[in-house]
Amino acid sequence: MSIVRDEAIVLRRLDYSESSQVLALFTRDHGQQRMIAKGIKRGTKTRAATGIDLLELGVVMFSSRPGKEDVLAALTEWRQEENFPHLRRDLPRCYAAQYAAEATSHLTEVHDPHPALFDALKSLLALLDAGDPLAILDAYLWTLLTEIGLRPELGRCMNCTRSIADDTVIYLSARQGGAICRDCEPAVIEKRRTRGDVLRWLTSQTDVVRRDDAPPREVKEAFELLDYYITETVGKPLRLADPLRSLTGLPRRPQPRRH
Ligand SMILES: [Zn+2]
Repeated sequence: MSIVRDEAIVLRRLDYSESSQVLALFTRDHGQQRMIAKGIKRGTKTRAATGIDLLELGVVMFSSRPGKEDVLAALTEWRQEENFPHLRRDLPRCYAAQYAAEATSHLTEVHDPHPALFDALKSLLALLDAGDPLAILDAYLWTLLTEIGLRPELGRCMNCTRSIADDTVIYLSARQGGAICRDCEPAVIEKRRTRGDVLRWLTSQTDVVRRDDAPPREVKEAFELLDYYITETVGKPLRLADPLRSLTGLPRRPQPRRH
């Protein structure tokens, strides 16, 4: 058994007993890790016992047993570096951050490191203190799909392979892995209609940065498209999808089109 030290962000937390927590941490160099933090909520005379909070960033020490990756690791030390207080003051920002954490938790594997994605998630949490939260979330989700190798192909039709660069109406299909043109669309069952401008905004997101000139309509439609694609990929809607949609003025999620 060896002790590992890494930087980590809390993706999920579950109170396990009076004094313990089970955590899903996204670590920078060891990917997602599930661990138990025994006694973490035990307070002292001067400090209240609250444990480790969702979306905290810190340095973690945990025991790792090679060959026993399916067993919960044991958290031995947690030093908080940042708890992003702006997320706790504003519900849309909080939900945007939680949506990002939930998507990361579903779409990355345990023990599969993605340092660039970790850095992007850290940027998202910091940047959410200002600007349009959905614009920052769009850029993060696009980075997430790129990093895990599931980025949809949006430059050409997945069926007839023609370029769709100048099309105004385009369809996206998760099962086809990208765009479907108007001509091929009738034959594809699982799809969502969108506009060329939305795809162009999305593909221009090469980094998680705050853009003060983000076009609100494209930002919202891009989120709906990403949420659709992630729902189809994961196989169910994310828990945070509906609360985030209602807070940001988006209509309820349409029922998937199945024939
Ligand atoms: Zn086509």
